[in-house]
Amino acid sequence: MSVLIVGTTALDSIKTPTRENPRLLGGSASHAAVAASFFSRVKLVGGVGEDFPKKYLALYRKHGIDLAGLQILPGKTFHWSGEYEVNMNHRRTLLTELGVIETFQPKLPAAYRDEPFVLLGNLAPALQNAVLDQMHKPRFVVADSMDLWINIALPELLRLLKRVDGFVLNDSEAELLTRENNVQVALRKLHRLGPKYVIIKQGSHGSILSGPRGIFLCPAFPLRTVEDPTGAGDSFVGGLMGYLAGARGSIEANLRRAMVYGSVTASFCCEGFGLNATTKTKRADIQQRVKQLEKMTVF
Ligand code: AMP
Repeated sequence: MSVLIVGTTALDSIKTPTRENPRLLGGSASHAAVAASFFSRVKLVGGVGEDFPKKYLALYRKHGIDLAGLQILPGKTFHWSGEYEVNMNHRRTLLTELGVIETFQPKLPAAYRDEPFVLLGNLAPALQNAVLDQMHKPRFVVADSMDLWINIALPELLRLLKRVDGFVLNDSEAELLTRENNVQVALRKLHRLGPKYVIIKQGSHGSILSGPRGIFLCPAFPLRTVEDPTGAGDSFVGGLMGYLAGARGSIEANLRRAMVYGSVTASFCCEGFGLNATTKTKRADIQQRVKQLEKMTVF
């Protein structure tokens, strides 16, 4: 099985309290696609500019990511810049240059339209809807979003939420969207917007899944050093969707385990700038941390 992933394919300039790294490979789709590739085949949908370095295309290919849905467009690649505080759960966006994403129209190759698993990674909700319009009855669709889209494209986002099975967002975005800071109450309000499953991410404090079987609390893997958490949320949901696509059995039965695999995959992302650590990770490393996490949480 494979998973179709759409989102930003970006250049990220990242500042932490100790280091600064310009124009790394980033974007919601890049992080999610590499994370998902540990568990299943990945079909990527996105758009980059002519300035997108060839070595980054080679990196996608090294992870076996199918690039038939990646358009190279005249103009500049989406460029995002962010700065972290000493507490790395807090960051601020310094710059978002949409570049080619401003006019990008996703066009799915025919071979992509029957994919059962679809991850609508963080992107303008109109484009997430446009991808969904081209799909033939997918089995499981999950959408991610961000404060920017909640602020500037709410009607399109609300339209999207009626069409997806799962919605993933972080705690501050959940509060922004529902005007509710109690997570339980926010979850109830988010379900009312459409999705059967809602996942609220809480950075280094883990994440919460809410669905027909109730609540599941998923821990983050405890790390001694966090180099750069950019893309951890995308790696989490990419790992989760890749795991589901690669697993046998029902989605309901696999979802909690998929959360744990997503969480562990995201932990590797945090240990290097951009995708540096994730791309050096092996499936066996993930397996080992899953076992460690199991030992830490069973009682
Ligand atoms: P995360 O740390 O999981 O929130 O994801 C950060 C990634 O999202 C970076 O690699 C950025 O390139 C990408 N990104 C930042 N802003 C946006 C946006 N408005 N829409 C889509 N992707 C974005």
